[in-house]
Amino acid sequence: MTKPKPTPASNFIRNIIAEDLKNNKNDGRVVTRFPPEPNGYLHIGHAKSICLNFGVAKENEGGICNLRFDDTNPSKEEVEYVESIKEDVQWLGFHWDDRLFYASDYFEQLYAYAVQLVKAGKAYVCSLSADEIRENRGTLTMSGKDSPYRTRSVEENLDLFQRMRAGEFEDGAHVLRAKIDMASPNVVMRDPTLYRIRKVPHHRTGDTWCIYPMYDFAHCLSDSIEGITHSLCTLEFENNRQLYDWILDELDVDCHPQQIEFARLNLSYTVLSKRKLVELVQGRHVSGWNDPRMPTISGLRRRGYTPESIRNFCERIGVARRDSTVDIALLEFGIREDLNKLAPRVMGVLRPLRVVIDNYPEDQVEELDALNNPEDLAMGTRKIPFSRVIYIEQDDFLEEPPKKFFRLAPGREVRLRYAFFITCVDVVKDKETGQIIELHCTYDPATRGGSSPDGRKVKATLHWVSASHAINAEARVYDHLFVKENPDEEKDVDFKTHLNSNSLNRCPFLVEPSLKGAPSGSRYQFERLGYFCVDSVDSSDNALVFNRTVTLRDTWAKIRKQQQK
Ligand code: ATP
Ligand code: MG
Repeated sequence: MTKPKPTPASNFIRNIIAEDLKNNKNDGRVVTRFPPEPNGYLHIGHAKSICLNFGVAKENEGGICNLRFDDTNPSKEEVEYVESIKEDVQWLGFHWDDRLFYASDYFEQLYAYAVQLVKAGKAYVCSLSADEIRENRGTLTMSGKDSPYRTRSVEENLDLFQRMRAGEFEDGAHVLRAKIDMASPNVVMRDPTLYRIRKVPHHRTGDTWCIYPMYDFAHCLSDSIEGITHSLCTLEFENNRQLYDWILDELDVDCHPQQIEFARLNLSYTVLSKRKLVELVQGRHVSGWNDPRMPTISGLRRRGYTPESIRNFCERIGVARRDSTVDIALLEFGIREDLNKLAPRVMGVLRPLRVVIDNYPEDQVEELDALNNPEDLAMGTRKIPFSRVIYIEQDDFLEEPPKKFFRLAPGREVRLRYAFFITCVDVVKDKETGQIIELHCTYDPATRGGSSPDGRKVKATLHWVSASHAINAEARVYDHLFVKENPDEEKDVDFKTHLNSNSLNRCPFLVEPSLKGAPSGSRYQFERLGYFCVDSVDSSDNALVFNRTVTLRDTWAKIRKQQQK
Protein backbone atom coordinates (compact mmCIF):
# COMPACT_ATOMS: atom_id res chain seq x y z
CA MET A 1 0.00 0.00 0.00
CA THR A 2 1.37 3.41 -0.83
CA LYS A 3 1.22 6.06 1.86
CA PRO A 4 -1.19 8.87 1.08
CA LYS A 5 0.63 12.06 0.14
CA PRO A 6 0.42 14.68 2.87
CA THR A 7 -1.80 17.55 1.78
CA PRO A 8 0.36 20.61 1.32
CA ALA A 9 -0.29 23.33 3.88
CA SER A 10 -2.31 26.18 2.51
CA ASN A 11 -0.64 29.51 1.85
CA PHE A 12 -1.92 32.74 0.36
CA ILE A 13 -0.79 31.79 -3.16
CA ARG A 14 -2.45 28.37 -3.03
CA ASN A 15 -5.57 30.16 -1.77
CA ILE A 16 -5.58 32.66 -4.65
CA ILE A 17 -5.15 29.84 -7.16
CA ALA A 18 -7.89 27.75 -5.54
CA GLU A 19 -10.22 30.76 -5.68
CA ASP A 20 -9.36 31.42 -9.34
CA LEU A 21 -10.05 27.79 -10.21
CA LYS A 22 -13.36 27.92 -8.38
CA ASN A 23 -14.34 30.94 -10.48
CA ASN A 24 -13.07 29.24 -13.62
CA LYS A 25 -10.69 32.13 -14.23
CA ASN A 26 -8.12 31.38 -17.01
CA ASP A 27 -10.46 28.57 -18.18
CA GLY A 28 -9.55 26.67 -15.05
CA ARG A 29 -5.86 26.40 -15.94
CA VAL A 30 -2.78 26.92 -13.82
CA VAL A 31 0.35 27.84 -15.75
CA THR A 32 3.42 29.01 -13.87
CA ARG A 33 7.07 29.44 -14.74
CA PHE A 34 10.43 29.47 -13.03
CA PRO A 35 12.41 32.29 -14.68
CA PRO A 36 16.08 32.25 -13.67
CA GLU A 37 18.58 34.63 -15.13
CA PRO A 38 21.57 32.50 -16.21
CA ASN A 39 24.13 34.67 -14.43
CA GLY A 40 25.04 32.31 -11.61
CA TYR A 41 24.22 28.97 -10.04
CA LEU A 42 20.92 28.39 -8.27
CA HIS A 43 20.79 28.68 -4.49
CA ILE A 44 18.42 27.48 -1.79
CA GLY A 45 16.33 30.65 -2.23
CA HIS A 46 15.71 29.64 -5.82
CA ALA A 47 14.69 26.20 -4.55
CA LYS A 48 11.86 27.93 -2.67
CA SER A 49 10.69 29.52 -5.90
CA ILE A 50 11.11 26.25 -7.86
CA CYS A 51 9.13 24.23 -5.31
CA LEU A 52 6.42 26.87 -5.29
CA ASN A 53 6.10 27.25 -9.07
CA PHE A 54 6.47 23.60 -10.03
CA GLY A 55 4.58 22.61 -6.88
CA VAL A 56 1.38 24.58 -7.49
CA ALA A 57 1.35 23.42 -11.10
CA LYS A 58 1.68 19.78 -10.08
CA GLU A 59 -0.96 20.05 -7.36
CA ASN A 60 -3.62 21.20 -9.80
CA GLU A 61 -4.93 18.94 -12.50
CA GLY A 62 -3.52 19.87 -15.89
CA GLY A 63 -1.27 22.49 -14.30
CA ILE A 64 2.07 23.14 -15.99
CA CYS A 65 5.24 24.99 -15.11
CA ASN A 66 7.73 26.26 -17.67
CA LEU A 67 11.44 26.67 -17.22
CA ARG A 68 12.32 29.96 -18.82
CA PHE A 69 15.76 31.47 -18.97
CA ASP A 70 15.52 35.18 -18.53
CA ASP A 71 18.53 35.75 -20.75
CA THR A 72 18.20 39.40 -21.68
CA ASN A 73 21.51 40.66 -20.31
CA PRO A 74 24.24 39.23 -22.54
CA SER A 75 27.23 40.59 -20.66
CA LYS A 76 26.76 38.57 -17.47
CA GLU A 77 25.29 35.37 -18.81
CA GLU A 78 26.97 32.14 -19.71
CA VAL A 79 26.13 28.71 -21.07
CA GLU A 80 27.74 27.11 -18.01
CA TYR A 81 25.02 28.69 -15.89
CA VAL A 82 22.23 27.49 -18.19
CA GLU A 83 23.49 23.91 -17.93
CA SER A 84 23.91 24.03 -14.15
CA ILE A 85 20.40 25.44 -13.69
CA LYS A 86 18.84 22.65 -15.78
CA GLU A 87 20.76 20.05 -13.82
CA ASP A 88 19.74 21.54 -10.47
CA VAL A 89 16.02 21.82 -11.29
CA GLN A 90 15.98 18.19 -12.42
CA TRP A 91 17.93 17.04 -9.44
CA LEU A 92 15.37 18.71 -7.19
CA GLY A 93 12.84 16.43 -8.85
CA PHE A 94 11.00 18.78 -11.19
CA HIS A 95 10.36 18.44 -14.91
CA TRP A 96 9.58 21.01 -17.55
CA ASP A 97 8.97 18.33 -20.22
CA ASP A 98 9.07 20.10 -23.58
CA ARG A 99 8.60 23.52 -22.06
CA LEU A 100 12.12 24.85 -21.91
CA PHE A 101 12.07 28.45 -23.06
CA TYR A 102 14.44 31.36 -23.43
CA ALA A 103 13.41 35.02 -23.34
CA SER A 104 15.94 35.43 -26.17
CA ASP A 105 13.66 33.28 -28.36
CA TYR A 106 11.15 36.11 -28.14
CA PHE A 107 13.51 38.93 -29.16
CA GLU A 108 11.83 39.39 -32.54
CA GLN A 109 8.35 39.40 -30.97
CA LEU A 110 9.46 41.74 -28.22
CA TYR A 111 10.88 44.12 -30.78
CA ALA A 112 7.55 44.11 -32.62
CA TYR A 113 5.76 44.89 -29.37
CA ALA A 114 8.15 47.79 -28.77
CA VAL A 115 7.41 49.13 -32.25
CA GLN A 116 3.71 48.83 -31.44
CA LEU A 117 4.23 50.99 -28.33
CA VAL A 118 6.18 53.57 -30.34
CA LYS A 119 3.44 53.71 -32.94
CA ALA A 120 0.85 54.22 -30.22
CA GLY A 121 2.86 57.16 -28.92
CA LYS A 122 3.59 55.23 -25.71
CA ALA A 123 7.35 54.94 -26.10
CA TYR A 124 10.11 57.25 -27.32
CA VAL A 125 13.80 57.21 -28.08
CA CYS A 126 15.66 59.20 -25.44
CA SER A 127 19.19 60.45 -26.09
CA LEU A 128 20.11 61.48 -22.58
CA SER A 129 23.05 59.70 -21.01
CA ALA A 130 22.45 57.10 -18.29
CA ASP A 131 23.62 59.65 -15.69
CA GLU A 132 21.28 62.31 -16.99
CA ILE A 133 18.36 59.90 -16.95
CA ARG A 134 19.16 59.05 -13.34
CA GLU A 135 19.42 62.72 -12.36
CA ASN A 136 16.09 63.51 -14.00
CA ARG A 137 14.31 60.64 -12.33
CA GLY A 138 13.67 62.58 -9.10
CA THR A 139 13.33 60.95 -5.69
CA LEU A 140 10.64 59.40 -3.56
CA THR A 141 9.63 62.86 -2.41
CA MET A 142 10.39 64.84 -5.59
CA SER A 143 8.92 64.19 -8.98
CA GLY A 144 11.16 63.71 -11.99
CA LYS A 145 11.80 65.95 -14.99
CA ASP A 146 10.57 65.24 -18.50
CA SER A 147 13.30 64.32 -20.95
CA PRO A 148 13.79 66.91 -23.73
CA TYR A 149 13.37 63.99 -26.17
CA ARG A 150 9.96 63.04 -24.80
CA THR A 151 8.18 65.00 -27.52
CA ARG A 152 9.92 63.36 -30.49
CA SER A 153 7.44 62.46 -33.22
CA VAL A 154 6.35 58.88 -33.80
CA GLU A 155 8.15 58.90 -37.18
CA GLU A 156 11.41 60.09 -35.68
CA ASN A 157 11.14 57.52 -32.87
CA LEU A 158 10.46 54.71 -35.33
CA ASP A 159 13.38 55.74 -37.48
CA LEU A 160 15.79 56.03 -34.54
CA PHE A 161 14.64 52.75 -32.97
CA GLN A 162 15.15 50.92 -36.29
CA ARG A 163 18.62 52.43 -36.60
CA MET A 164 19.40 51.43 -32.99
CA ARG A 165 18.60 47.88 -34.00
CA ALA A 166 20.67 48.21 -37.17
CA GLY A 167 23.73 49.01 -35.09
CA GLU A 168 24.19 52.61 -36.22
CA PHE A 169 24.82 53.92 -32.70
CA GLU A 170 27.27 53.18 -29.94
CA ASP A 171 26.34 51.78 -26.52
CA GLY A 172 24.56 54.39 -24.43
CA ALA A 173 23.82 56.79 -27.31
CA HIS A 174 20.06 56.21 -27.09
CA VAL A 175 17.54 54.16 -25.19
CA LEU A 176 13.88 53.39 -25.77
CA ARG A 177 11.71 54.59 -22.89
CA ALA A 178 8.07 54.12 -22.05
CA LYS A 179 6.13 57.37 -22.03
CA ILE A 180 4.23 57.18 -18.74
CA ASP A 181 4.51 59.83 -16.05
CA MET A 182 7.62 61.53 -14.68
CA ALA A 183 5.60 62.68 -11.66
CA SER A 184 4.29 59.24 -10.73
CA PRO A 185 4.61 58.51 -7.00
CA ASN A 186 5.93 55.10 -8.11
CA VAL A 187 9.46 55.79 -9.36
CA VAL A 188 9.33 52.66 -11.53
CA MET A 189 6.67 54.39 -13.65
CA ARG A 190 8.79 57.45 -14.47
CA ASP A 191 9.41 56.68 -18.12
CA PRO A 192 11.33 53.43 -17.52
CA THR A 193 13.89 52.28 -20.05
CA LEU A 194 12.60 49.44 -22.23
CA TYR A 195 15.57 48.85 -24.57
CA ARG A 196 19.23 49.73 -24.53
CA ILE A 197 22.10 49.33 -26.95
CA ARG A 198 24.64 46.66 -25.99
CA LYS A 199 27.15 45.68 -28.61
CA VAL A 200 27.87 42.42 -26.87
CA PRO A 201 27.37 38.95 -28.37
CA HIS A 202 24.66 36.88 -26.74
CA HIS A 203 25.19 33.22 -25.75
CA ARG A 204 22.25 32.15 -27.94
CA THR A 205 21.58 34.85 -30.51
CA GLY A 206 25.24 35.63 -31.23
CA ASP A 207 25.46 39.10 -32.75
CA THR A 208 22.03 39.15 -34.34
CA TRP A 209 21.05 41.80 -31.82
CA CYS A 210 22.77 44.87 -30.47
CA ILE A 211 19.75 46.17 -28.61
CA TYR A 212 18.41 44.23 -25.65
CA PRO A 213 15.09 44.54 -23.78
CA MET A 214 15.13 45.43 -20.09
CA TYR A 215 13.81 42.99 -17.50
CA ASP A 216 10.51 44.83 -16.95
CA PHE A 217 9.68 44.81 -20.63
CA ALA A 218 10.81 41.28 -21.41
CA HIS A 219 9.38 39.61 -18.35
CA CYS A 220 5.68 40.49 -18.55
CA LEU A 221 5.63 39.88 -22.29
CA SER A 222 7.41 36.53 -22.01
CA ASP A 223 4.83 35.55 -19.40
CA SER A 224 2.06 36.65 -21.72
CA ILE A 225 3.49 34.88 -24.77
CA GLU A 226 3.68 31.62 -22.79
CA GLY A 227 0.14 31.95 -21.47
CA ILE A 228 1.23 32.11 -17.84
CA THR A 229 -1.72 32.49 -15.47
CA HIS A 230 0.08 33.24 -12.19
CA SER A 231 3.43 35.01 -12.35
CA LEU A 232 4.99 34.44 -8.94
CA CYS A 233 7.95 36.58 -7.97
CA THR A 234 9.67 37.95 -4.90
CA LEU A 235 8.62 41.05 -3.00
CA GLU A 236 11.25 43.37 -4.43
CA PHE A 237 9.17 43.41 -7.62
CA GLU A 238 6.09 44.74 -5.87
CA ASN A 239 6.60 48.26 -7.26
CA ASN A 240 7.23 46.81 -10.72
CA ARG A 241 3.79 45.25 -10.81
CA GLN A 242 2.27 48.55 -11.92
CA LEU A 243 4.63 48.61 -14.91
CA TYR A 244 4.00 44.90 -15.61
CA ASP A 245 0.30 45.68 -15.88
CA TRP A 246 0.79 48.93 -17.80
CA ILE A 247 2.78 47.27 -20.57
CA LEU A 248 0.28 44.43 -20.98
CA ASP A 249 -2.66 46.87 -20.90
CA GLU A 250 -1.15 49.22 -23.50
CA LEU A 251 -0.28 46.40 -25.88
CA ASP A 252 -2.76 44.23 -27.62
CA VAL A 253 -2.08 40.91 -25.89
CA ASP A 254 -4.33 37.87 -25.46
CA CYS A 255 -3.04 36.87 -22.07
CA HIS A 256 -2.53 39.11 -19.04
CA PRO A 257 -1.01 37.06 -16.22
CA GLN A 258 -1.43 38.05 -12.60
CA GLN A 259 1.79 38.95 -10.83
CA ILE A 260 1.83 37.84 -7.20
CA GLU A 261 4.74 38.63 -4.90
CA PHE A 262 5.98 36.50 -2.00
CA ALA A 263 8.79 36.94 0.52
CA ARG A 264 12.21 35.76 -0.56
CA LEU A 265 14.04 33.25 1.58
CA ASN A 266 16.78 34.57 3.84
CA LEU A 267 18.86 32.04 5.72
CA SER A 268 20.97 32.69 8.81
CA TYR A 269 24.79 32.49 8.58
CA THR A 270 24.75 32.77 4.82
CA VAL A 271 24.11 35.14 1.92
CA LEU A 272 21.55 34.42 -0.79
CA SER A 273 22.30 36.82 -3.56
CA LYS A 274 23.94 35.71 -6.76
CA ARG A 275 25.97 38.90 -6.89
CA LYS A 276 27.49 38.09 -3.50
CA LEU A 277 27.92 34.41 -4.28
CA VAL A 278 29.77 35.37 -7.49
CA GLU A 279 32.07 37.50 -5.35
CA LEU A 280 32.86 34.52 -3.12
CA VAL A 281 33.65 32.37 -6.15
CA GLN A 282 35.68 34.94 -8.06
CA GLY A 283 37.55 36.06 -4.95
CA ARG A 284 38.40 32.39 -4.27
CA HIS A 285 36.92 32.53 -0.79
CA VAL A 286 35.38 29.17 -1.70
CA SER A 287 36.56 26.51 -4.13
CA GLY A 288 33.74 27.14 -6.60
CA TRP A 289 29.97 27.36 -6.99
CA ASN A 290 29.69 23.78 -5.74
CA ASP A 291 31.87 24.24 -2.68
CA PRO A 292 30.05 22.24 0.01
CA ARG A 293 29.85 25.36 2.20
CA MET A 294 27.93 27.30 -0.44
CA PRO A 295 24.13 27.68 -0.15
CA THR A 296 23.89 26.73 -3.82
CA ILE A 297 21.95 23.66 -4.90
CA SER A 298 25.17 22.21 -6.31
CA GLY A 299 27.00 22.95 -3.05
CA LEU A 300 24.26 21.34 -0.97
CA ARG A 301 24.22 18.33 -3.31
CA ARG A 302 27.98 17.90 -2.97
CA ARG A 303 27.67 18.32 0.78
CA GLY A 304 25.30 15.34 0.86
CA TYR A 305 21.86 16.96 1.00
CA THR A 306 19.06 14.98 -0.63
CA PRO A 307 16.50 16.57 -2.95
CA GLU A 308 13.74 15.36 -0.60
CA SER A 309 15.24 17.21 2.35
CA ILE A 310 15.37 20.45 0.35
CA ARG A 311 11.81 20.04 -0.89
CA ASN A 312 10.61 19.31 2.65
CA PHE A 313 12.48 22.35 3.91
CA CYS A 314 10.75 24.53 1.32
CA GLU A 315 7.38 23.12 2.34
CA ARG A 316 8.14 23.64 6.02
CA ILE A 317 9.15 27.29 5.72
CA GLY A 318 5.93 28.06 3.86
CA VAL A 319 5.16 31.00 1.62
CA ALA A 320 4.18 34.35 3.06
CA ARG A 321 4.25 38.01 2.18
CA ARG A 322 6.38 39.09 5.10
CA ASP A 323 10.19 39.03 4.94
CA SER A 324 11.90 36.89 7.54
CA THR A 325 15.08 34.95 8.14
CA VAL A 326 14.96 31.19 8.50
CA ASP A 327 17.38 29.53 10.90
CA ILE A 328 19.87 27.37 8.99
CA ALA A 329 19.33 24.80 11.78
CA LEU A 330 15.97 24.02 10.19
CA LEU A 331 17.71 22.97 6.98
CA GLU A 332 20.12 20.84 9.01
CA PHE A 333 17.26 19.31 10.97
CA GLY A 334 15.64 18.21 7.73
CA ILE A 335 18.67 16.48 6.26
CA ARG A 336 19.38 14.77 9.57
CA GLU A 337 15.84 13.45 9.62
CA ASP A 338 16.14 12.18 6.06
CA LEU A 339 19.60 10.62 6.41
CA ASN A 340 18.60 8.98 9.68
CA LYS A 341 16.29 6.81 7.59
CA LEU A 342 18.49 6.06 4.63
CA ALA A 343 22.18 6.27 5.57
CA PRO A 344 23.89 3.02 6.57
CA ARG A 345 25.90 3.19 9.80
CA VAL A 346 29.67 2.77 9.67
CA MET A 347 32.62 3.59 11.90
CA GLY A 348 35.58 5.90 11.50
CA VAL A 349 37.89 7.79 13.83
CA LEU A 350 38.74 11.46 13.35
CA ARG A 351 41.27 12.10 16.13
CA PRO A 352 42.82 8.71 16.78
CA LEU A 353 44.02 7.48 20.15
CA ARG A 354 45.86 4.16 19.98
CA VAL A 355 44.58 1.42 22.24
CA VAL A 356 46.45 -1.84 22.79
CA ILE A 357 44.38 -4.68 24.13
CA ASP A 358 46.95 -6.52 26.22
CA ASN A 359 45.12 -9.83 26.61
CA TYR A 360 44.11 -10.12 22.94
CA PRO A 361 46.32 -12.57 21.00
CA GLU A 362 48.95 -10.78 18.87
CA ASP A 363 48.11 -12.13 15.45
CA GLN A 364 44.46 -12.86 15.89
CA VAL A 365 41.84 -11.10 13.75
CA GLU A 366 38.16 -11.80 14.06
CA GLU A 367 35.28 -10.65 11.92
CA LEU A 368 32.44 -9.22 13.95
CA ASP A 369 28.87 -8.71 12.81
CA ALA A 370 27.69 -5.12 12.69
CA LEU A 371 24.20 -3.84 11.90
CA ASN A 372 23.95 -1.42 9.02
CA ASN A 373 21.12 0.30 10.83
CA PRO A 374 19.96 -0.85 14.26
CA GLU A 375 16.67 1.00 13.70
CA ASP A 376 16.06 -0.71 10.38
CA LEU A 377 17.10 -4.36 10.41
CA ALA A 378 16.14 -4.69 6.76
CA MET A 379 19.32 -2.77 5.97
CA GLY A 380 21.29 -5.88 6.88
CA THR A 381 24.69 -6.50 8.44
CA ARG A 382 28.35 -6.32 7.53
CA LYS A 383 31.58 -7.72 8.94
CA ILE A 384 34.14 -5.57 10.70
CA PRO A 385 37.60 -6.82 11.67
CA PHE A 386 38.80 -6.65 15.27
CA SER A 387 42.41 -7.02 16.37
CA ARG A 388 44.80 -6.29 19.23
CA VAL A 389 45.49 -2.66 18.30
CA ILE A 390 42.59 -0.35 17.66
CA TYR A 391 41.95 3.37 17.51
CA ILE A 392 39.30 5.20 19.45
CA GLU A 393 38.51 8.92 19.46
CA GLN A 394 40.75 11.09 21.65
CA ASP A 395 37.63 12.78 23.03
CA ASP A 396 36.42 9.46 24.34
CA PHE A 397 39.10 9.23 27.01
CA LEU A 398 39.80 11.50 29.94
CA GLU A 399 42.40 10.73 32.56
CA GLU A 400 40.45 12.64 35.17
CA PRO A 401 36.82 12.35 34.15
CA PRO A 402 34.47 15.00 35.45
CA LYS A 403 30.99 14.09 36.69
CA LYS A 404 28.73 12.86 33.92
CA PHE A 405 31.62 11.92 31.62
CA PHE A 406 30.88 8.23 31.16
CA ARG A 407 33.36 7.34 28.45
CA LEU A 408 36.72 5.65 28.96
CA ALA A 409 38.90 6.55 31.94
CA PRO A 410 41.54 4.72 33.97
CA GLY A 411 40.05 1.64 35.60
CA ARG A 412 36.72 2.09 33.85
CA GLU A 413 34.94 -0.41 31.59
CA VAL A 414 33.14 0.64 28.38
CA ARG A 415 31.70 -1.11 25.34
CA LEU A 416 33.29 -1.07 21.92
CA ARG A 417 30.44 -0.98 19.42
CA TYR A 418 29.64 -4.46 18.06
CA ALA A 419 32.79 -5.82 19.75
CA PHE A 420 33.72 -6.25 23.42
CA PHE A 421 33.80 -4.58 26.80
CA ILE A 422 37.26 -3.16 27.49
CA THR A 423 38.77 -1.78 30.69
CA CYS A 424 41.56 0.78 30.74
CA VAL A 425 44.52 -0.48 32.73
CA ASP A 426 47.33 1.91 31.82
CA VAL A 427 48.04 5.27 30.19
CA VAL A 428 51.33 5.71 28.33
CA LYS A 429 52.58 9.30 28.03
CA ASP A 430 55.41 11.07 26.29
CA LYS A 431 57.98 11.71 29.01
CA GLU A 432 58.76 15.21 27.83
CA THR A 433 55.44 16.63 26.69
CA GLY A 434 53.18 14.62 28.95
CA GLN A 435 50.97 13.87 25.96
CA ILE A 436 49.08 10.61 25.93
CA ILE A 437 50.62 8.22 23.38
CA GLU A 438 48.51 5.13 23.89
CA LEU A 439 46.22 3.34 26.28
CA HIS A 440 46.46 -0.20 27.45
CA CYS A 441 43.23 -2.08 28.02
CA THR A 442 42.03 -5.58 28.69
CA TYR A 443 38.99 -7.09 27.04
CA ASP A 444 36.44 -9.59 28.25
CA PRO A 445 36.03 -12.32 25.59
CA ALA A 446 32.64 -13.22 27.08
CA THR A 447 31.23 -9.87 25.93
CA ARG A 448 31.67 -10.60 22.22
CA GLY A 449 29.05 -8.71 20.24
CA GLY A 450 28.76 -6.06 22.93
CA SER A 451 26.76 -7.55 25.79
CA SER A 452 27.82 -9.29 28.93
CA PRO A 453 26.38 -12.68 29.88
CA ASP A 454 26.30 -11.73 33.58
CA GLY A 455 24.18 -8.62 32.93
CA ARG A 456 27.04 -6.24 33.77
CA LYS A 457 26.24 -2.72 32.58
CA VAL A 458 28.51 -0.07 31.08
CA LYS A 459 27.52 3.52 30.55
CA ALA A 460 29.24 4.26 27.25
CA THR A 461 29.63 2.70 23.83
CA LEU A 462 32.58 3.88 21.76
CA HIS A 463 33.23 3.66 18.06
CA TRP A 464 36.58 2.32 16.94
CA VAL A 465 38.57 0.95 14.01
CA SER A 466 41.16 -1.82 13.86
CA ALA A 467 44.55 -0.14 13.37
CA SER A 468 45.90 -2.52 10.78
CA HIS A 469 42.66 -2.70 8.79
CA ALA A 470 41.50 0.92 8.77
CA ILE A 471 41.63 2.85 5.51
CA ASN A 472 43.31 6.24 5.48
CA ALA A 473 40.79 8.77 4.22
CA GLU A 474 40.17 12.47 4.56
CA ALA A 475 37.28 14.12 6.35
CA ARG A 476 36.13 17.62 5.50
CA VAL A 477 34.36 19.04 8.48
CA TYR A 478 32.38 22.18 7.82
CA ASP A 479 31.07 25.02 9.87
CA HIS A 480 28.91 27.94 8.79
CA LEU A 481 30.44 30.05 6.03
CA PHE A 482 29.89 33.22 8.05
CA VAL A 483 30.34 33.88 11.75
CA LYS A 484 27.57 36.46 11.78
CA GLU A 485 23.94 35.43 11.76
CA ASN A 486 23.05 38.09 9.24
CA PRO A 487 26.28 38.80 7.33
CA ASP A 488 24.86 41.27 4.83
CA GLU A 489 22.79 43.33 7.21
CA GLU A 490 25.09 46.38 7.44
CA LYS A 491 25.06 48.55 4.34
CA ASP A 492 28.51 50.08 4.85
CA VAL A 493 30.38 46.92 5.88
CA ASP A 494 31.64 44.40 3.33
CA PHE A 495 29.81 41.11 4.05
CA LYS A 496 33.07 39.26 3.39
CA THR A 497 34.56 40.59 6.61
CA HIS A 498 32.22 38.18 8.37
CA LEU A 499 33.55 35.07 6.61
CA ASN A 500 34.33 32.24 9.04
CA SER A 501 38.02 31.36 8.77
CA ASN A 502 37.23 27.96 10.32
CA SER A 503 34.46 27.00 7.95
CA LEU A 504 36.52 24.14 6.51
CA ASN A 505 38.61 21.69 8.47
CA ARG A 506 40.37 18.95 6.54
CA CYS A 507 41.45 16.11 8.78
CA PRO A 508 42.88 12.63 8.40
CA PHE A 509 40.14 10.07 8.88
CA LEU A 510 40.59 6.39 9.67
CA VAL A 511 37.59 4.49 8.37
CA GLU A 512 36.48 0.88 8.53
CA PRO A 513 37.56 -1.34 5.62
CA SER A 514 34.01 -1.98 4.39
CA LEU A 515 34.20 1.50 2.87
CA LYS A 516 36.81 0.49 0.34
CA GLY A 517 35.61 1.65 -3.06
CA ALA A 518 32.65 3.61 -1.61
CA PRO A 519 31.00 5.24 -4.62
CA SER A 520 31.03 8.97 -5.15
CA GLY A 521 28.07 10.68 -3.52
CA SER A 522 27.19 7.76 -1.25
CA ARG A 523 26.00 8.75 2.21
CA TYR A 524 26.79 7.22 5.60
CA GLN A 525 26.28 7.85 9.22
CA PHE A 526 29.64 7.56 10.91
CA GLU A 527 28.53 6.48 14.34
CA ARG A 528 28.65 9.36 16.80
CA LEU A 529 30.39 11.70 14.32
CA GLY A 530 27.63 12.69 11.95
CA TYR A 531 26.41 12.10 8.44
CA PHE A 532 29.01 12.13 5.70
CA CYS A 533 29.04 11.65 1.97
CA VAL A 534 31.79 10.69 -0.43
CA ASP A 535 32.94 13.85 -2.19
CA SER A 536 31.99 13.85 -5.85
CA VAL A 537 34.94 15.95 -6.97
CA ASP A 538 38.07 15.12 -4.99
CA SER A 539 37.48 11.57 -3.79
CA SER A 540 39.04 8.58 -5.54
CA ASP A 541 39.37 4.87 -4.82
CA ASN A 542 42.87 5.41 -3.48
CA ALA A 543 42.09 8.55 -1.54
CA LEU A 544 38.58 8.64 -0.15
CA VAL A 545 37.28 12.06 0.83
CA PHE A 546 34.20 12.39 3.04
CA ASN A 547 32.25 15.61 3.44
CA ARG A 548 30.46 15.97 6.72
CA THR A 549 26.91 16.84 5.75
CA VAL A 550 25.68 17.50 9.26
CA THR A 551 26.46 16.50 12.83
CA LEU A 552 24.39 14.23 15.03
CA ARG A 553 23.26 15.84 18.22
CA ASP A 554 26.13 15.70 20.69
CA THR A 555 24.75 15.30 24.21
CA TRP A 556 28.12 15.66 25.87
CA ALA A 557 28.79 18.99 24.16
CA LYS A 558 25.42 20.18 25.46
CA ILE A 559 26.16 19.09 29.02
CA ARG A 560 29.62 20.66 28.89
CA LYS A 561 28.15 23.94 27.69
CA GLN A 562 25.68 23.91 30.54
CA GLN A 563 28.44 23.16 33.03
CA GLN A 564 30.47 26.10 31.73
CA LYS A 565 27.57 28.51 32.26
P1 ATP B 1 19.61 36.99 -6.57
O1 ATP B 1 18.91 38.05 -5.80
O2 ATP B 1 20.13 35.87 -5.74
O3 ATP B 1 20.63 37.50 -7.52
P2 ATP B 1 17.65 36.87 -8.60
O4 ATP B 1 16.30 37.22 -8.13
O5 ATP B 1 18.40 37.89 -9.36
O6 ATP B 1 18.48 36.29 -7.40
P3 ATP B 1 16.78 35.16 -10.68
O7 ATP B 1 17.59 34.25 -11.49
O8 ATP B 1 16.20 36.35 -11.31
O9 ATP B 1 17.66 35.56 -9.45
O10 ATP B 1 15.66 34.35 -9.90
C1 ATP B 1 14.78 33.44 -10.47
C2 ATP B 1 13.57 33.34 -9.60
O11 ATP B 1 13.93 32.93 -8.29
C3 ATP B 1 12.89 34.68 -9.45
O12 ATP B 1 11.50 34.50 -9.61
C4 ATP B 1 13.24 35.13 -8.08
O13 ATP B 1 12.25 35.94 -7.55
C5 ATP B 1 13.39 33.80 -7.33
N1 ATP B 1 14.30 33.96 -6.20
C6 ATP B 1 15.56 34.45 -6.22
N2 ATP B 1 16.08 34.50 -4.98
C7 ATP B 1 15.11 34.02 -4.14
C8 ATP B 1 15.03 33.82 -2.73
N3 ATP B 1 16.04 34.13 -1.92
N4 ATP B 1 13.88 33.31 -2.23
C9 ATP B 1 12.86 32.99 -3.04
N5 ATP B 1 12.87 33.15 -4.37
C10 ATP B 1 13.98 33.67 -4.93
MG1 MG C 1 16.83 38.69 -11.00
